[in-house]
Amino acid sequence: MLIADAINYAQQQFIKSDSARLDADVLLCSVLKCERIYLYTYPEKKLSNTSLSSFNKLITLRIKGYPIAHLIQKKEFWSLNLKVTTDTLIPRPETEILVEAALDIVPKEHPLSILELGTGTGAISIAIASDRHLAKITATDIKKAALEVAIANAKSHQLNNITFKIANWFDIKDINTYDLIISNPPYICIDDPHLKKGDIRFEPESALISGKQGLDDLHIIIIGAKDYLNKNGWLLLEHGHQQGKVIRQLLKDNNYSTISTLKDYSNLDRVSIGQWTS
Ligand code: GLN
Repeated sequence: MLIADAINYAQQQFIKSDSARLDADVLLCSVLKCERIYLYTYPEKKLSNTSLSSFNKLITLRIKGYPIAHLIQKKEFWSLNLKVTTDTLIPRPETEILVEAALDIVPKEHPLSILELGTGTGAISIAIASDRHLAKITATDIKKAALEVAIANAKSHQLNNITFKIANWFDIKDINTYDLIISNPPYICIDDPHLKKGDIRFEPESALISGKQGLDDLHIIIIGAKDYLNKNGWLLLEHGHQQGKVIRQLLKDNNYSTISTLKDYSNLDRVSIGQWTS
């Protein structure tokens, strides 16, 4: 079978996807270990039996709903290629808002200390570290398997200003305090119907679900961060689009100041920020 025919075939199989062509291209690129341009430069090239059989396996899994990021074991975030496994959340474009907010606070020329809670693939810390070489970052996760992915990602981007630690939120056996604490914690309600649709079905529940209202972990972080922030340090949190108001209130109730919420690319509340001035 030729490259062009294989892509057309896959595209027809992915009829229910709104990105059928892209999915077909990306999967075939991962089999052929090539860039997308190659598929369009050599549409008449014949696929080997091995490639065809690998491609067919991926097509079958994709039809069953497996996320593209899991099938190719990578995802682009902040223009960085990151390894992804089933032990981690798949980095989302919305989370780039959290990175932008951090970069607005962290100056290029000062060595600020940063703590990231629940790093998963390491996406947030790696994005910050790659733009702020002087930042000293500690990134934690409760899951050893996730930390291994994050460590591999930091290594592949040659970053040595991130220290990775196993920890359950503030159970970090750490006496340091930080200028900035950042997190994209689990924030989905346990009975949210959206958990039964799309990629999210294949991601670890521990990275997604946080109690009845999706607020349990955000609550723990808002309270715990007070003991780990330096004076005038910042807390930056990603949250659900319907949680902006309650998070701002929680920050206020816990004596944070300079509180604000940033919108994502769909104009929905996504990131809230507070400063610890006490
Ligand atoms: N943003 C993800 C979603 O809504 C959830 C990520 C999270 O819980 N931190 O699909």
